[in-house]
Amino acid sequence: MSELSPSFVPNIIGGKEQPAIGGQTLDVLNPHDGTRLAGLARSSAADVAAAVASARSAQVSWAAIPPVQRGEILTRICNALEANKSELAQIVALEAGKRLSDAAGEASAAILCGRFFAGEGQRLFGRTTTSGTADKWAMTIRQPCGVAGLIIAANTPAPNFAWKVFPALVCGNAVVLKTAEDTPISSWFMARIAEQAGLPKGVLNLVHGFGSEAGQALVEHDDIDVLSFTGSTRVGRMIGETAGRRLKKVSLELGGKNALIVCDDADLDNAVKWVVAAAFSNAGQRCAAGSRIIVFSSVYEAFQDKLIAATRALKLGVDADCDLGPVINQRQLDHMLAAIDKAVHSGAHVLVGGARAQDSSLSTGFYMQPTILAGLADDDESSTTELFGPITAMYRVPDFEAAIALANRSPYGLTGSIHTSSIDRAFAFIGRLEAGVAVVNGGTHGSEPHMPFGGTKASGNGTREPGTEALDIYTNLKDVYLNIRPPIG
Ligand code: NAD
Repeated sequence: MSELSPSFVPNIIGGKEQPAIGGQTLDVLNPHDGTRLAGLARSSAADVAAAVASARSAQVSWAAIPPVQRGEILTRICNALEANKSELAQIVALEAGKRLSDAAGEASAAILCGRFFAGEGQRLFGRTTTSGTADKWAMTIRQPCGVAGLIIAANTPAPNFAWKVFPALVCGNAVVLKTAEDTPISSWFMARIAEQAGLPKGVLNLVHGFGSEAGQALVEHDDIDVLSFTGSTRVGRMIGETAGRRLKKVSLELGGKNALIVCDDADLDNAVKWVVAAAFSNAGQRCAAGSRIIVFSSVYEAFQDKLIAATRALKLGVDADCDLGPVINQRQLDHMLAAIDKAVHSGAHVLVGGARAQDSSLSTGFYMQPTILAGLADDDESSTTELFGPITAMYRVPDFEAAIALANRSPYGLTGSIHTSSIDRAFAFIGRLEAGVAVVNGGTHGSEPHMPFGGTKASGNGTREPGTEALDIYTNLKDVYLNIRPPIG
């Protein structure tokens, strides 16, 4: 079995690679051409229970290692990932259907995130403060939650792994990771490397399989102390309900329907460049994708012409000269085609794209043409639900007030961007956008590992990952009071 094309991707439980207990499997497909890449363990509640038990027994001794030393182990893992970066990038490119350069960028981003959290081992700060009583000290310390149940989405598999696994580990938790069923190979590869680099067995356990089986079993397991989920708002809501009933700590990083405003004083070429990147890079499979392009009336036609030309010039495929790859699976492709059909029936028109890729060399892959819709009502289903593919929609507004009102008229609140040369508009936008991220003269996407990412409204439950804010998810605070008993001899 080659590491890049394993014929079977097993669970990793207590350091042992193993098939699902029931022997069930599912297939991992290459979204570029629909061919089978590998078989995958299709885990059930029994596998999840074994993984949780393994994590529970490994956690105490992992937590007993001083955080600085846990950070050093993370550094060794990152060094090993660096040494294996080209293999990791090739796996990501294959299983997620990306250009190798994009996959390599994601591998680097995952390593950068790991290095940031390695350093947090030296900064797992509590707080020392004043007391209202004489001869008394008041402070807080951070302690691990225990066993962390992590569930990730398929879109950027290496950073998705890194954003959750590294902070959970440095904080002293043991982990059960439910990988994304479409992109599990990179998680398996990274977990193996982690163990080879010195992570004790059982501290990071991997279970693969369907969300409704392995994922749900993890969410419902009694012995999980903290849950962190990245995925759709629909599933996040269910997880939040279950966690709420059980009073479990939970972090939900969910979907977006992100607005990018183009003002009449914008650099239109720069705005076009960023809209194309925000809407179509990674085939639009970003929670932070720019899916609502709100343009001032006075520049609408000029901007639209430029955007249509730039979109028509995009090349589909995974070769070095291509701009966007396939979406992750056939179900996603069908979902998008149906959504466009519905939008057209309710009065929208397609400015560019709107169909499956026509090129016969792409016909077995899950390729969707980059698509721009116009004429959608702001309350149309396609304006208010995330499509998670290379589809964006244009809206015309008279002025700034109308633009900001429309940007905020969304069930989601993840990110937003404005293109303007006015500092007043830029700051007004930053202050008034109802979202977790506001960008000026850039894309709606792109975040850095030391920054707290997350959204408002249906984009999450208010938590932020990664950044130092992730430490709040993966640790519990304990208040400590120290009383001095005078006289001191
Ligand atoms: P999804 O919600 O269908 O699946 C995400 C993960 O949850 C997968 O591992 C899946 O197996 C699992 N899952 C599915 N049903 C489950 C259940 N009932 N119980 C437990 N786990 C379950 O999402 P998707 O379509 O794979 O991913 C795309 C979504 O992820 C989009 O909505 C996107 O915006 C979101 N996302 C958010 C962020 C963020 O940081 N806010 C980042 C990336 C992706």
